[in-house]
Amino acid sequence: MNTSSDAPARTGMILILSGPSGSGKSTIYKAAIGDLGGIEFSVSCTTRQPRPGEVDGRDYYFISREKFDALVAEHAFAEHAEVHGNCYGTLKSELLDRVRRGTDVLLDIDVQGAAQLRALCCDSAEFCEACEFIFIMPPSFEELERRLRARDTETEESILRRLSNAKGEMEHAKEYDHVIVNDDLDRAVKEFTDLILGLRQERKNGSAG
Ligand code: ADP
Ligand code: 5GP
Repeated sequence: MNTSSDAPARTGMILILSGPSGSGKSTIYKAAIGDLGGIEFSVSCTTRQPRPGEVDGRDYYFISREKFDALVAEHAFAEHAEVHGNCYGTLKSELLDRVRRGTDVLLDIDVQGAAQLRALCCDSAEFCEACEFIFIMPPSFEELERRLRARDTETEESILRRLSNAKGEMEHAKEYDHVIVNDDLDRAVKEFTDLILGLRQERKNGSAG
């Protein structure tokens, strides 16, 4: 029995969010995270160029390909993948320390990275217990294209690449614990918020029992 007074009421969750580019992952979690509290965003490393308004260290660690390769060689990443022509990776240092402190960590990563974390779950019970895999699905392919174009952040080449990857990505939705269709934004944000609150409650009940 853990009698330490500073032990967290529950350990944190690793919330793994995937979905095609433009499906609304960042819009949903940015809308939900403030009200939920107790969630920290896992800042990934990427070799892609920052978009206007993106801040280094907040949205991503924007690094060179050489630095990325060095981090791979040092085994600094829990997972990493090439996505839409750029490299992305989750630093191990973003994850378990926070979970042990009772903080939930949110990862916005692609289906390849999620598959790597699923494989890690087989090796570590602590990691496995912490992970929840959530897929954000657009209501239709046509609406995905409309949103990606309306966001106005990508070149035509990048839009076409993201759309051509989207179909393959959506086939992986069935591998996730939870799928949220982002049709109406308010409804999807509520479903996401209720899901996190429900998972927290389940874990509190579990640790109390
Ligand atoms: P992702 O993070 O998955 O790449 P974004 O969150 O950037 O996607 O969303 C893509 C675009 O679609 C943004 O311009 C966003 O404002 C818009 N969007 C997100 N959800 C909805 C929704 N339910 N209805 C209409 N537009 C949406
Ligand atoms: P964007 O360039 O639009 O920010 O992200 C493109 C894709 O890369 C998205 O599907 C996003 O989830 C994914 N991504 C962002 N960070 C990571 C990461 O650390 N690892 C992996 N595997 N994918 C990531």
